[in-house]
Parts: sequence; structure tokens; C-alpha cells
Amino acid sequence: MSRIHLLSPRLANQIAAGEVVERPASVIKELLENSLDAGATQIEIDAEQGVKLMRLRDNGDGIEQEDLPLALSRHATSKILALEDLEAVCSLGFRGEALASISSVSRLTLTSRRTGADNAWQVQTEGRDMEPSVSPAAHPQGTSVEVRDLFFNTPARRKFLRTETTEFKHLEEVVKRLALSRSDVAFQLRHNGRVIHQLRPAQTEAEHERRIASVCGPAFIDQALSLDVSAEASGLRLWGWIGLPTFSRSQADLQYFFVNGRIIRDKLVAHAVRQAYQDVLFHGRHPAFVLYLELDPKLVDVNVHPTKHEVRFREGRLVHDFIFRTLHRVIADVRPEAAPAGAA
Ligand code: ADP
Ligand code: MG
Repeated sequence: MSRIHLLSPRLANQIAAGEVVERPASVIKELLENSLDAGATQIEIDAEQGVKLMRLRDNGDGIEQEDLPLALSRHATSKILALEDLEAVCSLGFRGEALASISSVSRLTLTSRRTGADNAWQVQTEGRDMEPSVSPAAHPQGTSVEVRDLFFNTPARRKFLRTETTEFKHLEEVVKRLALSRSDVAFQLRHNGRVIHQLRPAQTEAEHERRIASVCGPAFIDQALSLDVSAEASGLRLWGWIGLPTFSRSQADLQYFFVNGRIIRDKLVAHAVRQAYQDVLFHGRHPAFVLYLELDPKLVDVNVHPTKHEVRFREGRLVHDFIFRTLHRVIADVRPEAAPAGAA
């Protein structure tokens, strides 16, 4: 008797959800990335009673009626067609997994109206194996996603959820990161009906700094150096704000590094920054920074991990040295004139 069988789509999605949907914050991360990929300029996020309800609404280009059920299917994406596209991917998403994963572990409603369409349409799922039916709905141009009762059908996952306050902190952190990645987009975050962040789109440098201040705190921007350095030969550009050595922190909690608009965690980058601050920070203190690295997308592989938090640089050494040298120079410029070695 044969013992091998195909997993049902729902089970396959729930297993994949284990990688992508760790907690409510990961849901919001995926939904926000989708809104940004859809060209939204205005995004509203609501969270109520922990995982009871999360709602996100954007004014992006929307989803066609016939694409709605597909949007919830695994490995269905409008963002890449072939492997070559992955080599120079500019969108935040490309795996076609997020909505399928989220909808397999929650009660999800997706409502959308495509640019130029006369009507909006809606699909709903309850974490079951069924073809979702599409019904007409009222909605302005753009997309809303409502996620209720996260992990209602995966008790093992639900057990790992922390208090509402803790989960909301994580969710807020995700919103901050994405708000820092796109200062040109307006964000509003509400928790149980109360507005927590209201971020207006920034065009000018001053507005940009205001956004950094509202996300990172005014003390940071007051004690930060701004930089914008390009290396012509390699096409690398590093810009943003770094905290003065006097603004060091006891935790590495104010460190944002974006590569082509995507927040990343990377050992090589962390090392380069640490080295640049090496001589000016006491042991155990951490620098604060909001930095944006821009480079040819072909020189960085983003398909390293399902959460897309990690990247692989084709020219690791070059990137490391560029970051180190750039920051080192900026920091050296403001150091109280270091006395030449040996001088009194
Ligand atoms: P991916 O983002 O990797 O393509 P998702 O599961 O997150 O996969 O989304 C599937 C598809 O649904 C996307 O490729 C996109 O076409 C569509 N979609 C999802 N969210 C939105 C949105 N907010 N606005 C417009 N289209 C969306
Ligand atoms: Mg996505």
C-alpha cells in the first residue's frame, strides 16, 4: 500500500505559514510590503485586541476581480515571471506566499478595487480548503485586508503569542521600519481605535527629518550626522543619519539599515558599522543609525530567507569596505580633534 500522499493545499500553506507568519507583526509586514509594491501613497493600519483583528487599507493600484482568488493561492504572484526576474527584483514581495499563508491561519477578507474599475470585489477565507467566492463590495480604489483571529486553527502557534502589549510593540516596530523605508508614503497606525502614529508624506529634507524624528525620537535627529556619499566606480551610494558617538545606546535598538529600500539584518553590514565606531564608543555601547544603501539590484540576492530579512551581496568585501570607510570618515570629521599620538 502506498504511504506517500500529497499534502492538502491548506496544510501545505499552514506549514509554509510557520516560516512567514511568526506573529501578528509578521502579518502586518507582509501586508505593508504588498501595499508598497502596489504603489500606495497612503496606508492605514488598525490593530484591535491583539490578534482579534488587524486591518490594513491602501490606495494602491488594486487587484482585478478574476485575480482575487489567485492572490490567495500559494506561489501566485504578479511580481515575477521567470528566474531571471529574481536577479534584479525591485519589489518587496516575489514569493507569492504571504496571502496564502496568512489566509490558512486566520479568517481573512480581501477587498479591492482596481484603478479605473467601476466596482470593488471581495473574497473571504476561513482557513479552509475551498475555492473562495468573489462577491461585489464597496471600496474606493485600492485594497483592504482584514485578518481576524490569527492562529485560530493552529493552537500550537497561538500558545506562543505574548501579551497584547508585547505583540503590539512588535507590530509597531514593523510599521516604523516600513515608514522609514518610504518617507514619501503616508502611514497611520491605530491601536484599539487610538492613533499611535500619524506620519505625513515627506518631500523636503526638513520633512524627511521630521519623519525620522517621529519614528526614532527627536533626540536622535538632534544628535545625528547626515551623510550622502556615492562611489562612482562601484555605483554604491550610502545615505542617511548616524548618531554622534555621544548618542550611543545600551541596546542595539535604534539601528535601521535598508538595502534598496528593504530593511535587512546582515553580519557584514553590522561588522562594518561596528568597526567604524570602534574607536569612539565604549565597550558595550551601541551606535544609532538610519542608513540607506543603494546599489545595482543585480549585486544583491534577496531570495535567501522566506522573511526576506537577509541578503547576500555579490561583492561582500567591496560593500563592507565602502560602508566602513564612509562612516569612519564622517565620524572622524566630528571627533574633538584627536591629539596626534604622543602629544600631551
Ligand atoms: P507576493 O507579494 O510575493 O507576490 P502575496 O501573497 O503577498 O505574494 O500577494 C499575492 C499577489 O496579490 C501579489 O503579487 C499582488 O499581485 C496581489 N496583491 C496583494 N496585496 C495587494 C495590494 N495591497 N494591492 C494590490 N495587489 C496586491
Ligand atoms: Mg507579498
